[in-house]
Amino acid sequence: MRFFGIKILHDPGFYFTRFVGIAFLCYSFFLTSYAEPVGRLRVVTTIFPAYAVASAVAGDQAIVENLLPAGVGPHDYQLTAGDLRTIQKAQVIVQNGIGLEHWLERAFKSNPTLLTVNLSDGLHDSLIRDPIHAADHHSADETKHHEEGNPHLWLDPKLMIRSTTNVLRAFQKADPTHAAVYASNATVFVQSLQKLDQELSSSLAPLTNRGFVTLHDAFAYFARAYQLKVVGVLETTPDVSPPPRYLGELMRRMRQEKVSVIFAEPNSPKRLAERIAADLKIRVALLDTLESGALKPGEYEAAMRRNATVLIRELGAATP
Ligand SMILES: [Zn+2]
Repeated sequence: MRFFGIKILHDPGFYFTRFVGIAFLCYSFFLTSYAEPVGRLRVVTTIFPAYAVASAVAGDQAIVENLLPAGVGPHDYQLTAGDLRTIQKAQVIVQNGIGLEHWLERAFKSNPTLLTVNLSDGLHDSLIRDPIHAADHHSADETKHHEEGNPHLWLDPKLMIRSTTNVLRAFQKADPTHAAVYASNATVFVQSLQKLDQELSSSLAPLTNRGFVTLHDAFAYFARAYQLKVVGVLETTPDVSPPPRYLGELMRRMRQEKVSVIFAEPNSPKRLAERIAADLKIRVALLDTLESGALKPGEYEAAMRRNATVLIRELGAATP
């Protein structure tokens, strides 16, 4: 200790080394404390597919937060005070559009400078599917959520590629300094979506025209993309019990089309599907609408592949 205490304290180089070390520590502290919040674009997304696109384009360059908690559906969502605070901090919001986020309207008043991008922006009318409605009369309020068309376009990876371009343009506009980083990230995601689409086209090809029924009208775009046949849906308005007359007509068509399975959803009650399946002596399985999902890289593609596996298992052995 004497060696360090006396000899080195008299060495001017020791003081210089200490000064440089302390200065470096202060500089590092400044960087970690102040640089990140100022430098990074803040993005808020509404539902899992919007998060999937936004987080893929953002990479490490932007902060992306999703509003809907895990397992919560978008059709009847209520905005919380916490959501409003998240939106107030953001520069960009990525939503699906086509009338899905009707609950978001008051949020735009809380942040008037927010740049809004829709996954559905630029989608030609001819690509937007009409929702299935019950033949019975129902109120305007029941149909308002889908009045602009069927919103579930994220279940077609080709449409997700268009959505990626929409998100890329918005990020480049909001944060032009990092335009090249976002473009590079978007290219990688689009390649992943193209690979997914090719895989699904090939693996689902044997299921063409094998009819099935789903809980709500989420799979119209998916079925169109891969020539699958949705014979009908149990709920013409999500989370609303269908009229008995509608269900009677649906069951008649299910017998006629020899439907062998009803696809319920992981985050919704299965009672109605189970009751009808028992009456018709057919199976119930689960198909993911991807309205909710784990917020991690690659999860959109993984969830789509899980759905394909379920379809092949459930319809692959069915009588054509
Ligand atoms: Zn839905």
